[in-house]
Amino acid sequence: AKRVDAIPIAQYGGRHAVTMLAGGGIGPELMNYVKQVFRVGGVPVDFEDVQMNPKSESNEDLEYAITSIRRNGVAIKGNIETGSMNRAVISRNVALRNELDLYVNVLHCKSYPGIPTRQKGVDILIVRQNTEGEYAMLEHESVTGVIESMKVVTQENSERVARYAFEYAKKQGRKKVTTIHKANIMKLSDGLFLETSRQVAKDYPNIEHNDMIIDNCCMQLVSNPHQFDVMIMTNLYGTIVSNVVCGIVGGAGLLSGKNYGDHYAVFEPGTRNTGTAIAGKNIANPIAMLNAAVDMLDHLGHVHHAKIITDAIDKTVNEDRIHTPDLGGTASSTDVVENILKHVQKATKTIYWI
Ligand code: ADP
Ligand code: MG
Repeated sequence: AKRVDAIPIAQYGGRHAVTMLAGGGIGPELMNYVKQVFRVGGVPVDFEDVQMNPKSESNEDLEYAITSIRRNGVAIKGNIETGSMNRAVISRNVALRNELDLYVNVLHCKSYPGIPTRQKGVDILIVRQNTEGEYAMLEHESVTGVIESMKVVTQENSERVARYAFEYAKKQGRKKVTTIHKANIMKLSDGLFLETSRQVAKDYPNIEHNDMIIDNCCMQLVSNPHQFDVMIMTNLYGTIVSNVVCGIVGGAGLLSGKNYGDHYAVFEPGTRNTGTAIAGKNIANPIAMLNAAVDMLDHLGHVHHAKIITDAIDKTVNEDRIHTPDLGGTASSTDVVENILKHVQKATKTIYWI
């Protein structure tokens, strides 16, 4: 049986332990905001902080982090830097997703009415293959001056992604699933991905299925994003389309992304940025990481606390309109967080202390 939506067993009287991987750049400051909000909201979650040295040439830190996630089942993470230029040292973020077999990435792109953007009322669900495709990291120099890079598409993973998307669409009452591809050029790899999604679609006669070439998709997204409902795609198209859609609804600081496998779940900001240039300046938008924390609470079954924090975020963004510079505002990160804390505190009627 698939365990994608299974809730990890609560330990110690209803409390959950989760792994916290702050990563580099703005990761640590954003994680502190998550901790503050959880404290004020009385959220029954304990964090196991795991530090990773970006300059490390060994995989010891990475293995420790993976062991921690295996133990807890759930993690919240920032973007981990891979500082080493050594070609043999692979991206920690990619390695972590592969090791835990987090085969699907889910990004819910929904407009906030309080944020001024060209396109209003966008509500798209991006379901992305998260472990193979162009991220297979199988590159080599066959002869001097010639690099070959392998794109790996398997029927099994294509099917898992399609199945996840259609099941989600069914559960959420979504109407349409669109497969994004370049099967006119990459006839075998993208052809397999597309054909597999067509096969899976047959099991869901009440959901419309269509497909679109990736380049046309980018143009359509910018000019008429409302035609999209649920989208499925391979790994590299997924990261590009996710960034396009995040840009349409307000940028890198807003939305969260969910990584699922059959056994583990990892929550993080949707566009996976490090934010090194804005670290320590009190200007990073805390919303994306807080949304990731809310996703994590929903996954753990703490829906009451998740709702309180979501409402506090929505009020801050849409009604109080306290926006950081990335959204065109003048508020600092801590202005936003303090306002969220005020709403959380009102909702939980606990004592306000930070
Ligand atoms: P990468 O990690 O891929 O190098 P960057 O850190 O350069 O990406 O982030 C891309 C852009 O998004 C930068 O302009 C960065 O300032 C911005 N950005 C990322 N996260 C946030 C955030 N939480 N708040 C505001 N801006 C952000
Ligand atoms: Mg950068």
